[in-house]
Amino acid sequence: MKNISVLGSTGSIGRQTLEVAAANPEKLKIRVLAAHKNVGLMLQQIEAFHPDFAVLTDKEAAAELLKQYKGNTEILSGQEGLLAAATYEKTDTVLGAMVGYAGLRPTLAAIKAGKDIALANKETLVAAGHIVMQAVKDNNISLLPVDSEHSAIFQSLRSGYHPCLSFTEKGRDSSEVKRLILTASGGPFRGKNREELKKVTLAQCLKHPNWTMGKKVTIDSSTLANKGLEVMEAHWLFNMPYDKIDVVIHPQSIVHSLVEFNDGAVIAQLGIPDMKLPIQYALSYPQRYDCNFGRLDLLQCADLTFEAPDREAFPSLQIAIDCGKAGGSLPCAFNAANEECVTAFLEDKISYLNIPEIVKRVVDSHTPIPHPCLDEIEETDRIVRIKTKELIDQ
Ligand code: NDP
Repeated sequence: MKNISVLGSTGSIGRQTLEVAAANPEKLKIRVLAAHKNVGLMLQQIEAFHPDFAVLTDKEAAAELLKQYKGNTEILSGQEGLLAAATYEKTDTVLGAMVGYAGLRPTLAAIKAGKDIALANKETLVAAGHIVMQAVKDNNISLLPVDSEHSAIFQSLRSGYHPCLSFTEKGRDSSEVKRLILTASGGPFRGKNREELKKVTLAQCLKHPNWTMGKKVTIDSSTLANKGLEVMEAHWLFNMPYDKIDVVIHPQSIVHSLVEFNDGAVIAQLGIPDMKLPIQYALSYPQRYDCNFGRLDLLQCADLTFEAPDREAFPSLQIAIDCGKAGGSLPCAFNAANEECVTAFLEDKISYLNIPEIVKRVVDSHTPIPHPCLDEIEETDRIVRIKTKELIDQ
């Protein structure tokens, strides 16, 4: 039985995690639920899963939940509550499904408390990958990917190199790997040029062709910023240099990613586009539980196509990769600027093409700190957000 704290339980990944837990009640026990301010859904989740405690970080929402809830589960609030969820003594695995930079502190706290991590919250690794991976090593815990592409790479590497497990379990080294190939659906605007992208609307952006996800990651998928964030995530998770990480567009989202080895062998993981498989695998590892969701029918997916990403029409991909390669505080700066621009786009304050334009101006003006400590990461995040908001308001 694995005892799990779900951080971000009311979101897209959080809700699917609870579906996986509900399908495996003898194997997965939900100990703690945490989210930001969705009172109604948190109430339903508490009643369905009876966690030891539940957290809403927004204090007013937590007070409202306390008013409405009549049962035995304790209700906590604020950052203190979130840290309690991340470090709870009866939890052995923390599933990180909060969105954005806000996931960094609780993830680090969980690692330092010796919890294994199932990580969907890629922004945590982007902003502070060097600090997070050092903490993983120092605390001898396993950090397993939930992101479908990284889960696919993890599964494809299983025959050899085991990079993101607790370091005592690490197997062979990465020198056998020629390159990692991350697939991307290309999002709703694949094939459009910059002229056509001038006219796209928020509603079109939020209609991903293959996946139903939270708003932030859906916008990031449409700009390819998401793939840039994932390249950085792969760099840290698999300890792989940037020149050994490639991106290909695969519109069908069936091949979730691939690994090419030195001898030319390419190993991939295939499946239907459903996050429940990578979520379940991150929780069941090293076992495989039964599938309570759809299975892949190869005869229904005869056309599996691959093409190069259009880096000119979707510049966010290359801006992110360049920031990753430059390292230091630049990935954190990229992430903060991107988060602010996505929020502004969702609030109709800037246009779609303003997103990469503003992010580029912000990262170009950022003076990188070479090996930032956590305080310097926090400061970078704070200052970059201020600078980005100034440009948004101009
Ligand atoms: P959602 O927007 O659907 O959910 C976000 C969750 O985080 C909600 O539970 C929200 O609570 C909570 N949250 C937001 N801000 C805070 C905060 N400051 N403190 C505490 N909790 C907070 O996001 P997704 O589930 O789509 O994505 C989550 C992460 O997983 C992202 O990093 C994303 O990139 C990654 N991911 C998502 C995939 C997907 O299919 N959705 C696929 C692969 C990766 P509330 O609802 O109360 O506001």
